[in-house]
Amino acid sequence: MARYDVVIVGGGNAALCAAIEAAEAGARVIILESAPKHMRGGNSRHTRNFRCMHHGPLSVLTDTYDEDEYFDDLLRVTKGQTDPVLARRAIRDSEACLPWMEAHGVIFQGSLSGTLSLDRTNAFFLGGGKALVNAYYACAEDLGVTIRYGAEVVHVDLSEGRFHAVTLADGTQIEGRAAVLASGGFQADLDWLTRAWGREAANFLIRGTPYNRGVVLRNLLDQGAQSVGDPTQCHCVAIDGRAPKFDGGIVTRLDCVPYALVVNRDAQRFYDEGEDVWPKRYAIWGRLVAAQPDQIAYAITDQKAQGLFMPPVFAPVKADTLAGLAQALGLPAAALEATVAQYNAACQPGPFTPGALDGLATDGLAPPKTNWARPLDTPPYYGYMLRPGVTFTYLGLRVSERAQVQGAHGPLPNVWAAGEMMAGSILGQGYLAGFGMTIGTVFGRIAGQEAATHAR
Ligand SMILES: Cc1cc2nc3c(=O)[nH]c(=O)nc-3n(C[C@H](O)[C@H](O)[C@H](O)COP(=O)(O)OP(=O)(O)OC[C@H]3O[C@@H](n4cnc5c(N)ncnc54)[C@H](O)[C@@H]3O)c2cc1C
Repeated sequence: MARYDVVIVGGGNAALCAAIEAAEAGARVIILESAPKHMRGGNSRHTRNFRCMHHGPLSVLTDTYDEDEYFDDLLRVTKGQTDPVLARRAIRDSEACLPWMEAHGVIFQGSLSGTLSLDRTNAFFLGGGKALVNAYYACAEDLGVTIRYGAEVVHVDLSEGRFHAVTLADGTQIEGRAAVLASGGFQADLDWLTRAWGREAANFLIRGTPYNRGVVLRNLLDQGAQSVGDPTQCHCVAIDGRAPKFDGGIVTRLDCVPYALVVNRDAQRFYDEGEDVWPKRYAIWGRLVAAQPDQIAYAITDQKAQGLFMPPVFAPVKADTLAGLAQALGLPAAALEATVAQYNAACQPGPFTPGALDGLATDGLAPPKTNWARPLDTPPYYGYMLRPGVTFTYLGLRVSERAQVQGAHGPLPNVWAAGEMMAGSILGQGYLAGFGMTIGTVFGRIAGQEAATHAR
C-alpha cells in the first residue's frame, strides 16, 4: 500500500494551496483528484477573482480595504450568520495570501470594467481560475507532489479516532500520516439536493463541476464528524435557463433583470426588478426564481434596453409583438399583455440613468419597480429564460481556527479541511463576491502547514 506524509483529497484551489504548503515544508504529498486531467480544478477553475483585505494599494488593488469594512460587508450579506473567529482569520490572512499567490504563479489584472465595480476589494486573475489552477498544478509538480487524476475517494479510514488511509472507487488504498479534505460541497449530487430542497431541485442547474458530489463529506458525517451549515443554504443565482445541467460556468450569467420586467410561468411579476444595481442583487434572484412554479422565470425587455447590459451567451428569443414573444416563450399571451399594460400604466416620466439608482419608479404597482422603470413599448421585444443556478452548498465540516476537523469526540488529531468543505461556518447564508477563493486559499494554506508539521 502506498504511504505518504500528507494525503490531499480534491484538486481545486484549497487542495492545491494545501499541497504546495505541505510540500514546501518538506512533506511527501499526494493529491487525489476525482476528475480526469482535462476537468481538474473543480469550481476553482470557473473563478475570476479573490477578495482581499489590504492597507494601502496592493498589487492591482487600489486604496484600502480594512478588516472591519470587510467584516461589515460579510455581516451584511450573511445577516450575522457567520463564525466571527474563522471569518476574521480568513479576512486577516487574505492580505498575505495575495503576494503568496503571485509568488506561486498567479498573475493578477486590473478589475474588469462594465458589470462589477470591485477594483478596491477584489483582485482578478489574468486568464481566470483556469490559469490559477494550471499555475498551482505546475508548481505542485515542480515541488514533487504526486498527482492522481480519476481518483475518487469513497472512504476515509478514521478508526480509533484518527486518520489512517483513504479508499478509492477502484478499491486502491493510500495510507498517510495526515489528511487534508478539500473536495467541495455536494451540489452535484442531485439526489442529495432533492432531499434538502424537495422536488424543485430537479429544475436547478449546477454552475460548476459535476464532480463535487459530497462523497467524502457524507462519509465523514456518517462517521460522526461534526457539521456546520444548513443543507438548504447555498449560493444560488439566476442564470440562463438554457445553460447545461452542469459546469456552464460564469458565461451563463444574465445581467438583464434591472432593465427588464420579470414574470413567472403564468406571466405574473413577483419581485422588484429595480431594487438595486445588479451586482448587489444577482445572488438573491436564484432563490426568487426557485420559489416560482416550475422554478422558471422570464425577463422581458424591449429594444430600448439593448446595449445596457452584458450580452448573454445564448441569443434571446425575439418577436415584434408581445403576443408573438409570449407564444415563442410558451407564456399565456393575454396574461403577458395584461401584465405589461398594467406596468406601463404605472410608469412615471423622469430621467433614466442606467448603472445608478435613478429612482425612476412605478406608481401604485405591486410589486413596484423602484428604479429604471420605463414603459415596455418599443419593439422588437426580447425574452430571456431564467433558472436557479447553484454555485455551491454550505453544509460542511466543523473546523477549528487551524482548520482541524472536529470528530464525534473532539478534534481529529491528523485531519484538516479547507475550502467549500468547511465554508459553511463562515457563510451561514448569503455570499460575498470573491470570498470563496479567500476561504479556500487561507484555510488551504493553514491546513497544508498543519498537516505537514504533524506528519514530520
Ligand atoms: C461559475 C462559478 C464562478 C465562481 N466565481 C468565483 C469567483 O470569482 N471568486 C470566488 O471567490 N469564488 C467563486 N466561485 C466559488 C469558488 O469556485 C469556490 O468557493 C472555490 O473554488 C472552492 O474551492 P475548493 O477547492 O473548496 O473546491 P473546488 O475548486 O470545487 O475543488 C473541489 C475538488 O474536489 C474534487 N473532488 C470532489 N469529490 C471528490 C472525491 N470524492 N475524491 C477526490 N476528489 C474529489 C473535485 O473534482 C474538485 O477538484 C465561483 C463558482 C462557480 C461555480
